Amino acid sequence: MATKTVYYIEGDGIGPEVWKAGRPVIDAAVEKAYGTENALDWQLLLAGERAFKETGEHLPKATMDALANAELAFKGPLNTPVGKGFRSLNVTLRQVFDLYACIRPIKYFKGIESPVKRPDLVDMTVFRENTEDVYAGIEYQSGSPEAKKLIEFLVDEFGAKIDATAGVGIKPITPAGSKRLVKKALDFALEQGKPSVTLVHKGNIMKTTEGGFRAWGYELAEEEYKGRVVREGEDGEGVIIKDRIADAMFQNVLMYPEQYSVIATTNLNGDYISDALAAQVGGLGLAPGVNMGDKLAFFEPTHGTAPTIAGKDMANPGSLILSGAMLLEHIGWHEAANLIHKAVEKGLADKKVTVDLAAQISGSTQVGCREFGEILLGNL
Ligand code: NAD
Repeated sequence: MATKTVYYIEGDGIGPEVWKAGRPVIDAAVEKAYGTENALDWQLLLAGERAFKETGEHLPKATMDALANAELAFKGPLNTPVGKGFRSLNVTLRQVFDLYACIRPIKYFKGIESPVKRPDLVDMTVFRENTEDVYAGIEYQSGSPEAKKLIEFLVDEFGAKIDATAGVGIKPITPAGSKRLVKKALDFALEQGKPSVTLVHKGNIMKTTEGGFRAWGYELAEEEYKGRVVREGEDGEGVIIKDRIADAMFQNVLMYPEQYSVIATTNLNGDYISDALAAQVGGLGLAPGVNMGDKLAFFEPTHGTAPTIAGKDMANPGSLILSGAMLLEHIGWHEAANLIHKAVEKGLADKKVTVDLAAQISGSTQVGCREFGEILLGNL
């Protein structure tokens, strides 16, 4: 019998209610697929507001110690209180465990009204680099001593043209950081039988950073994937690797979604493109995700704590349930993952859905979070 330990954090806001509705669906899918052969062993960890109430810390040491040895973890959304001196818990977790790949599958479910003509052609997985780029936090405010000093240095030493009043930010992109992200995307495409990997960059303008990402991506394919990956336009067998400039890519995914499958991109591009793609297929309530490092895969619904509907039995547990399906695929339990996808498809076709989806499915009846979970459970 295979038992996989999954450390989980309930999260704040709608976190506890989507867990309550969603986890039974994930467990039941495993049971239906494998009987008592396979099971998930869920271990609760404290984080966020509940942890603060019970231990006086938002990220207790016991939680961090358990995660340091974990391979699978799963979290609900965590609040980032606005105010000084409070670092985002999500960012802290990503940095401490070096979760460098943010992975989001974007797939259409029949029945959802979409703003595009052929949402059914959208079946993409975005691999977004999670640790570098202008998100690295190396930035200085306009007029600050740091900004002034940096600008002076660039002007004096390199003859750069920058106004002395500019706010400045640094965009570090490394060969190693780019290659490990592209590697995750290529491995995924090969394992899951996907047709192509597209490197998305703005290297025509930012040659040393975004252009570097493109060049290092191709370099990795050449060095480590010979015979298994083939460059667009060249003869050969295998997963096609190609690249697109980011602005063109935003047009292409709208006009020719069938041409794109796995997307590997830098942090800022990835942030934009994953939300734009999610909007093409129905938004946050059905958007799963994972942040992955070399050891730990940390699954999460991509929505936040939705404070205005928290505690009202209105939240959609679909995003958490589909994140569960991603976890099952990650560990190779594909039969259970497929059961979840089918259950969600049937749930949407039957048109008894939570408020967010009801707004996008004409003729639908609105049900609560708990009832939607029960419907999906019954659909397995
Ligand atoms: P949000 O995702 O919480 O809400 C955006 C909108 O979507 C709201 O209208 C909300 O009601 C709706 N919504 C979100 N999830 C839903 C669901 N499952 N079912 C139905 N409707 C849903 O984003 P926000 O309002 O920008 O952020 C609120 C809080 O969540 C902030 O503190 C933010 O920092 C945090 N947040 C956390 C994460 C995370 O932990 N990964 C991600 C995003 C935001």
